[in-house]
Amino acid sequence: MFSELDPPFRLLMGPGPVNAHPRVLRAMSVPLLGQFDPQMTTYMNETMALYRAVFETDNRWTFLIDGTARAAIEASLVSLLAPGEAVVVLSSGRFGLLLREIAERCGAVVTLVEAPWGEVVPAAEIEAAVARVKPRVVATVHGDTSTTMAQPIETLGDICARHSALLYVDATATLGGMRVPVDAWGADIVTAGLQKCLAGPPGIAPITISDRAAAHIFSRRHVEGGIATAADAPARGARIGSNYFDLAMVMDYWSERRLNHHTEASSMLYAARECARLILEEGIEARVARHRAAGEAMAAGLRAMGLTLYGDQGHKMFNVVGIEIPAGVPGEAVRSEMLDEFGIEIGTSFGPLAGRIWRIGTMGYNARRDAVLTTLAALEAVLRGHGFALVSGAAVDAARAHYAGLS
Ligand SMILES: *Cc1c(COP(=O)(O)O)cnc(C)c1O
Repeated sequence: MFSELDPPFRLLMGPGPVNAHPRVLRAMSVPLLGQFDPQMTTYMNETMALYRAVFETDNRWTFLIDGTARAAIEASLVSLLAPGEAVVVLSSGRFGLLLREIAERCGAVVTLVEAPWGEVVPAAEIEAAVARVKPRVVATVHGDTSTTMAQPIETLGDICARHSALLYVDATATLGGMRVPVDAWGADIVTAGLQKCLAGPPGIAPITISDRAAAHIFSRRHVEGGIATAADAPARGARIGSNYFDLAMVMDYWSERRLNHHTEASSMLYAARECARLILEEGIEARVARHRAAGEAMAAGLRAMGLTLYGDQGHKMFNVVGIEIPAGVPGEAVRSEMLDEFGIEIGTSFGPLAGRIWRIGTMGYNARRDAVLTTLAALEAVLRGHGFALVSGAAVDAARAHYAGLS
């Protein structure tokens, strides 16, 4: 027999997942309900209302996709894009490339507007591409954790409106840690996941959809189930190419009609509901300020250790930082020692950054002063052990000074 689960305690300071807030874990252990129990549908409606506030939107269609963040990305793109339609994808990191890959699998014709990793895509290049391609959709990541850069979204809504495109934003890594003002942005679909700044476990994905995007998705509705009349049925090739991720069906399920689709992942819904309650209790401004303070204190400490931060610091996300691995220091050994000796996980990197940078997150429940100071103290000890020249104590002092300057 294998033993009962009893994992070691870890402080998860990578780019996600991070430690879930204890209240979220408690919410997940309450009893299950049948999916059409009035109490369950009440909880579903409450969750919709809570996430409208978290996404700063009036969008009626604000609900959850069962699956990790990627499930909501895929649901969005497969429901928006018919084969042969044009999409402009912004990319300066791994998650921009994921948008391209998913859009290609939808059969869409992708125009990639790229910036080098560590930078963001300039607005002028985006507008030029959108004017040229006249896409159905413009798709972008907000905070790309692979590079730690935050793409400015403010101007994209106007660009899309001028060229009649729908705007999709992947805010998985930023919702709850940076402002994601969906209506002010003029974004049509924005999606997230729980395991980053929302302080929950991976497994369910908040989504919000504008009426304009919903109307487009409903126009592609499948006739089965007798919802659309045969006359309304879209041409076969334009139908949404997925059942589980058919947002028209999922919206019908979350609507007053409660048309059966999947079985709602009740325990994950409880978790998502508690994550949103925590954010609104704290207040969005205070929440973002907490993430900013933790991210800046971490950055100040790392610099004081003599380390170099990766990428354009003017566009860095508040809640994750890339650190160039110093020459002569074994990056993976440092991560192992942090984990084995201190119980602290920090992140590695992918693609062109593999072996070049570590990534440290200060997200959700872990965007805390004690987590920042403990991580810096441990990293200093491990680096000193590898002969990296640094001023002992400088990192923690700098982070404490940053916090002291805020109060
Ligand atoms: C973490 C992350 C994802 C992937 O989320 P999963 O929950 O692993 O599916 C997608 N986009 C961004 C920007 C992320 O940071």
